[in-house]
Order: sequence, then C-alpha cells, then structure tokens
Amino acid sequence: MNEKLLNLNSIEGVEVEIAKDLKKFSTMHLDAVGDLITVKNVDALKSVTKTLTKNNSNYRVIGWGANILLPATATIPYLQLDFDFDRSVFEKPRDEYILPASVSLATLTSHANKFGLKGWEVFTGIPASLGGAIFMNAGTNLGEIGTIIKEVKLVTKNGEEKLIKIDRQSFTYRHNHFVEPGDVIYEARLIHFGIDEAISRKIREYLEMRNRTQPLKEWTCGCVFKNHQDLVRSVTCRAGLFIDIMGLKGLSIKNLQISPKHANFMENRGESSYEDVMEMITVLQKELKLQTGVSFETEVEY
Ligand SMILES: Cc1cc2nc3c(=O)[nH]c(=O)nc-3n(C[C@H](O)[C@H](O)[C@H](O)COP(=O)(O)OP(=O)(O)OC[C@H]3O[C@@H](n4cnc5c(N)ncnc54)[C@H](O)[C@@H]3O)c2cc1C
Repeated sequence: MNEKLLNLNSIEGVEVEIAKDLKKFSTMHLDAVGDLITVKNVDALKSVTKTLTKNNSNYRVIGWGANILLPATATIPYLQLDFDFDRSVFEKPRDEYILPASVSLATLTSHANKFGLKGWEVFTGIPASLGGAIFMNAGTNLGEIGTIIKEVKLVTKNGEEKLIKIDRQSFTYRHNHFVEPGDVIYEARLIHFGIDEAISRKIREYLEMRNRTQPLKEWTCGCVFKNHQDLVRSVTCRAGLFIDIMGLKGLSIKNLQISPKHANFMENRGESSYEDVMEMITVLQKELKLQTGVSFETEVEY
C-alpha cells in the first residue's frame, strides 16, 4: 500500500508522507503515527480521492484536529487540505466570501472582529478549519456556523465535484446532512447579516468568558459529549453539568484528567494514549447512564 500511496506524489499539488508523527495534528496531542496526504488544489484533490477509491483505500479528512482522536497507529491515510487563496479578501468587508475549507476559523473571527460582521460571532474561539467547522456545524451559545453558510463545494470519493446549496434541512445540532462517506469539503460561500459595531465587543467578552471557564491552554479535544436534547420535557441536558454534579471533575486515568475547569473536557497532561481516552469515555458514559438515565453521545470523533 505504501508504494501505491507514494505514487500519489507524482500528482502536482500532492505531498505524501509515510508513517508521519501526527501528535501535533490533533489538539489532544495523543501519540499517533500515520500516513498523511497533503493536497494543495482541487484538481489534485479529485485525482487523489479517485485514485484511493480505485485502489480500495479508505481515507479520513483531517482539519485542525480539534474534534478527532487519532489512534496510535492509523490503518488508513489522512487527507489534509492546504489550499492557497487570495488573502486580500480580508482587507475590507464584503457581502459574501468564497473561502477554502483549509482556512482557520481564527482568521475569520479576526476579520469579523475588525469589521463587525454580524453572524460571524457564533464561532468565536472555536479552534477549527472552515471545512471541519462546516462538517460539525460547530457553534457556541451564540449560534451555529450553519446559519452563515450558503453553498458548499466538495469532491466525492470518485473524484467528482459537487455543489451543495444550503437550506434549512442542511444542518442540525453539531451535524451536517449532506457530506457522504468519502466526500471532502474544499470550499464554501459565506454571508453575514450586516455590519454591527457591537460585534467586536461581543467577541471580546465571549473570548474572556471562554478563557475563564474552559481549559483553553491544555491539550484537549473540546467537549467530549454532546448535550442531550430531552424532547419530551423540552430541556437541554448538559453533559458537563451532570459530570460536575456527580463529583467527577479531576478524575484521572494515568495522565488523562477530567478538567477541573470544565467537566465536559478531558486534559491530556502528557503521554496519554488513545486507550486512556476510550477508557475514560466508557467510565463516564456508564456513570452518566446510571445516574441520569441518559445515554450521552460523544461529540468527539474516533
Ligand atoms: C479547546 C477547544 C474548544 C472547542 N470549543 C468548541 C465549541 O465551542 N463549539 C464547537 O462546536 N466545537 C468546539 N470544539 C470542537 C472543534 O473545535 C469543532 O468540532 C471543530 O468544528 C472541528 O474542526 P476541525 O477542523 O478541527 O475538524 P477535525 O477535528 O479535524 O475533524 C472533525 C470531523 O470533520 C471531518 N472533516 C474535517 N475537515 C473536513 C473537510 N474539509 N471535508 C470533509 N470532512 C471534514 C473530519 O474527517 C472529522 O470527521 C472545541 C475544541 C477544542 C480543542
């Protein structure tokens, strides 16, 4: 398989690295080694997905790695996008933006902060690539990214381009309903809801609040569990709140700890393994089910 992967190097805009140390490719910093294919433009992406599919090889897209747990040894290659684009689009506010999936949300937040783009405050402080944020419909208490996405372009596993027009059914809580297995989002069209001077203050205050309440300086993967929507009683059951009430803040498995700052975060305090995280998730899911009757789904992907 290595040889077949290395052949992809002959495609312009593709770089293949075999058995790469991927520790820094996820925000949880677990020990991980795997094959990485970096793709720099859409034609290269089409050739890569088509070739991998023809070779019966699955693959996984990796964005900022902020919601994904990488196993110690990956059995399928990771695909990373690194598309160049004209950064002068951020020199002034526009009605709409066509941006590559590899751009970071931090770049977008900084633009929104500078020019007061209404609607863009919803992703304040979320570490992510635009593609990963769309895939997850990332959001905060202020809203979800799905509200400002109009179109998404992706490449299928057979190397075909697809344009998705976003509508009310396209997103639900931390979920999209249009990416199929093997699809890779490579571009999106974003809008905003006008210019509002209050946005930069909102972003600043929200960032301060996050810094106070979340372990942003530690190695984590964000919230481990999705909040549970109890449709019968019309209430949101917050996993972090329940873990806190159960007195499990600070619980450790070796160097992995439930964050003392926010109970829905796990901190890797050095050398934690994928297995440690799986064990902690199993312990918490069992306790949560026992104490609350709710089966909390994981938000983080593994
Ligand atoms: C400290 C911290 C705080 C966080 N706070 C929040 C928060 O407030 N709200 C929130 O919603 N999330 C939060 N998260 C989680 C995370 O930031 C989001 O889920 C984010 O959307 C992940 O984006 P990513 O680029 O890192 O995707 P990754 O973690 O790299 O990937 C996530 C999933 O998306 C898929 N994917 C990624 N890119 C593409 C693409 N181009 N095409 C197709 N599929 C793709 C991957 O295959 C994977 O299945 C937080 C994480 C951390 C570490």
